[in-house]
Amino acid sequence: MRLDKYLAESAQCTRSEARALLQKGRVSLNGAVVKKADAKVEEGDTVCIDGAPVAWQQFVYLMLNKPEGVVSASTDKRDTTVVDLVGDAYPRRELFPAGRLDKTSTGFVLLTDDGGFAHDILTPKRHVSKTYRVVIDTPLTEEMKAGFAAGVTLADGTALAPAQVEALTPDGLTVRVVLAQGVYHQIKRMFGVFGAGVNALHREAIGGLALDPALEPGQWRELTAEELEKIT
Ligand code: URA
Repeated sequence: MRLDKYLAESAQCTRSEARALLQKGRVSLNGAVVKKADAKVEEGDTVCIDGAPVAWQQFVYLMLNKPEGVVSASTDKRDTTVVDLVGDAYPRRELFPAGRLDKTSTGFVLLTDDGGFAHDILTPKRHVSKTYRVVIDTPLTEEMKAGFAAGVTLADGTALAPAQVEALTPDGLTVRVVLAQGVYHQIKRMFGVFGAGVNALHREAIGGLALDPALEPGQWRELTAEELEKIT
């Protein structure tokens, strides 16, 4: 890859800013100062700016704790979006949420600029589970449990895949739901079939990766490579 492209993508700057760094002699490749924008960077090479190594990142993967009232979109005319919460930390990246939570829902949203990865975690074919803690307004019944396990048919005739549900509190009002697909308003519509309403919905995990409890609502951080692997 060309050195100016490598610098722009890993140091989050424009190509012209990268070229300016090169011209000022601030960039080294394997220990030697390089000024040519079209110098080639090969796998295993070390690129430094002012002596500090810059690791190449093809894509960005962020874990965000979505607060209530924020929409799962990249831009919105009226509301704050999950991408707005990241601010201008990644000015050269086109981040988007890999999967949506309703405006009233909270919890784990994965933001990335990797379209292939987003597709992989969203396609029902890959069975990447999503785990939710849900507060319902009617205690969980055996009928709901059996219905979820068999696969709920929504009011519009959509036949859903089997899902897991279990009570987390003795009153049966706080439950955990695990889904392997993502249909619009899925959990609210599933409980709706049984006459139950949803008062709160929080996504706890995507695949085998739980939301970091250290992240307050609105906070985010990059995922490690090990965490990324736990998702799929
Ligand atoms: N199901 C819903 O109804 N809402 C969400 O935000 C996520 C799953």
